[in-house]
Amino acid sequence: MAARILNGTEIAGQIKAELAEPVSRLGEQGIRPGLAAVLVGNDPASQIYVRSKVKSCESLGLLGETIHCPESASTEQLVKLVEELNRRDEIDGILVQLPLPKPVDTNAVLMAIAPNKDVDGLHPLNIGRLAERLETLLPCTPAGIMEILRRSGIPLPGAEAVVVGRSNIVGKPTAMLLTYADATVTVCHSKTRDLAQVCRRADVLIVAAGRPGLITPEHVKPGATVVDVGMNRIESREQFDRLFRNDAKKEAAFRKNGFVVTGDVGPEVAEVAGAITPVPGGVGPLTIAMLMVNTVKAAGLRRGGRIPAVSSGRR
Ligand code: NAD
Repeated sequence: MAARILNGTEIAGQIKAELAEPVSRLGEQGIRPGLAAVLVGNDPASQIYVRSKVKSCESLGLLGETIHCPESASTEQLVKLVEELNRRDEIDGILVQLPLPKPVDTNAVLMAIAPNKDVDGLHPLNIGRLAERLETLLPCTPAGIMEILRRSGIPLPGAEAVVVGRSNIVGKPTAMLLTYADATVTVCHSKTRDLAQVCRRADVLIVAAGRPGLITPEHVKPGATVVDVGMNRIESREQFDRLFRNDAKKEAAFRKNGFVVTGDVGPEVAEVAGAITPVPGGVGPLTIAMLMVNTVKAAGLRRGGRIPAVSSGRR
């Protein structure tokens, strides 16, 4: 039987709708939460991401500002820009779109963001607070994955969860959040021996490796929930044919645009899994929704409000 599709666009829509109330409450106090997005250079994918984040802000009545810097911007210039944004009172959240051009010291730029304006939740202080299970701004993609699972009624206490990928942005914090939700968590990476065998253990399989088609039916226990975080641009005909030879819809898109975007999970997995997130339309929209949640939270927090604990579960 084909898997149930976990529709990220729909879930993101619910979350954004729920923000209307706190946004209007802040509005009554004369506060309009504001997000500044720093875009460096001319990477087309980064431009699209920033545009959709700023558009999301506008549709929710938040201030969304894009600061576009030239490709040649230096680490010092970017740090200075971030410090200026730290001082601007109408800016509650600062987002530096990654990747930054090669010569720039990405860590130095991210570290310059004031932790209480770190709406991507990637500052070491906020990651440390997450590790200690203290109140914090959560990293957006991992928080979005948890919302998909929670709102789709996927049970986590006692479940076997396997996370493929151990990056600071996705894999590592997702593993922490799954642990806090009382799942039994295994983290896999590029050096894992027999990935398929480890993944087959999973009731819930989260894949964030950036490797198109990495996960095949032999990696998936029948009925498992699969969350595909990967976002890969397929431009080569050979790779396209390997993944989507018989998919007429994808073929038409490939011919029209010269590329398709796909996750890390192969198309046949939907025949084995119990539930699965699509790409696009799965985790991606949640990342943006959680950025909006963090911006609104940060706005309240900077004015003496509280942010809820990471989870109300037991340690
Ligand atoms: P990354 O390159 O920093 O990390 C990839 C991880 O996968 C590493 O820990 C590596 O050890 C592991 N890995 C690589 N090949 C593997 C293999 N063959 N077997 C097992 N593990 C392997 O990437 P990232 O920043 O974590 O992003 C991962 C993917 O998620 C990318 O495709 C990225 O575009 C996507 N992503 C999507 C969103 C979203 O909003 N949907 C957000 C962030 C990242």
